[in-house]
Amino acid sequence: MSILIYAESTEGKFKKVAFELASYAKKVAQSLGTTVTAVTVNTGDVSELSKYGVDKVLKVNNDKLSSFSAKAYADVIKQAAQKENAKLVLLSSTTDSIYLSSLVAVALEAGFASNVVGLPISTSPFQVKRNAFSNKAFNITEITTNIKVLGLAKNSYGIFESKDAINHVSTEDFSPTIGENDFGVKVVAVEKVTGKVTIADADIVVSAGRGLKGPENWAMIEELAGVLGAATACSKPVSDLGWRPHGEHVGQTGKPVATNLYIAIGISGAIQHIAGINSSKVKVVINTDPEAPFFKVADYGVVGDAFDIVPKLIEKFKTFKAQNS
Ligand code: FAD
Repeated sequence: MSILIYAESTEGKFKKVAFELASYAKKVAQSLGTTVTAVTVNTGDVSELSKYGVDKVLKVNNDKLSSFSAKAYADVIKQAAQKENAKLVLLSSTTDSIYLSSLVAVALEAGFASNVVGLPISTSPFQVKRNAFSNKAFNITEITTNIKVLGLAKNSYGIFESKDAINHVSTEDFSPTIGENDFGVKVVAVEKVTGKVTIADADIVVSAGRGLKGPENWAMIEELAGVLGAATACSKPVSDLGWRPHGEHVGQTGKPVATNLYIAIGISGAIQHIAGINSSKVKVVINTDPEAPFFKVADYGVVGDAFDIVPKLIEKFKTFKAQNS
């Protein structure tokens, strides 16, 4: 028996969530006295997984899987779990993995817990802590089925190199059976924002709202994001007004953000916005109104005019980088 993780990649390279999942799986495996196997799809070099404690990789290379198809990918993970006799199957919480997890659980007749934060509270009975109500509450969930599927909330555990990693991972080519029925729904086109840090991969997000007055004022937001190596985001009305692309809209009805640092500039902090960014670790708010609701959830707040504060921040960060590079 081993723990199986689905190590997600894009364009042949692992996403950061794959390393977080591997770190998490290693720790759980140590407490259960078992090993970690990863299944990968069309991924190039898989050796990096060993740093985080993965013992074995099942490499699936198949042109039919070059675009994401939930049913086909779920089939792959199911067959990998069966091959490894895995009783615990772990996925992350990317858009694709959220979609996949429940299909995998159904295919394996497994109990499933999504939004898991932290290591299992106990392994017998098997209990995990989960985010609930848009991260405003936790619940403790017990899974009683023989096979268990967990979806780990992004940025909830962290990435840790394993002390006893052997820095060598055994790899095995794996060719699961994929039928034509697996492709009833498939991605037919992808439009990508190029040359920018994406919200999903970003450690830092610089986000701005209606307080910026108009799209012509986003140059300073882009510049701040550029200096910090951050992704840019915005509130819903900003994308509704066409000031910024819809892909930048974050919040309850937009993209969820779970970064290490979220900088909110000229955003009031409506409940629907907060719901989507709540699990970010450090929140910095810049707003002219000291009563803006966002300050209630901020770790650091600046009461002031964005047009005054942001250029000063850019200069400070540039100086800091120049002195520390
Ligand atoms: P405003 O509320 O207009 O706030 C602008 C802020 O900028 C104010 O706090 C103001 O003090 C400040 N400001 C003004 N000038 C400056 C300056 N010069 N410098 C610094 N600060 C300044 N919203 C989302 O963001 N994401 C969602 O997913 C989302 N989903 C929704 C779903 C539903 C069903 C509904 C009803 C609403 C949803 N909303 C969502 C909208 C949400 O309720 C708010 O209306 C929205 O978040 C407000 O956007 P804002 O903060 O940019 O604008």
